Amino acid sequence: MPVYDYVCKDCHKSFEKVLTLVEHDKKSIACPHCGSKNVEQEAAAFFAVTSKKS
Ligand SMILES: [Zn+2]
Repeated sequence: MPVYDYVCKDCHKSFEKVLTLVEHDKKSIACPHCGSKNVEQEAAAFFAVTSKKS
């Protein structure tokens, strides 16, 4: 499950969101601190990339 890092341009706080690709495509991410949708994605990290090669 990809984790997306965002920073809010209104309150300048960063937060993480775990989103499916469909949710990410909607681009309706709101800041959990102030509710603003004026957020910017910083980077993406992925869990379970290096383990569990079965
Ligand atoms: Zn905010």
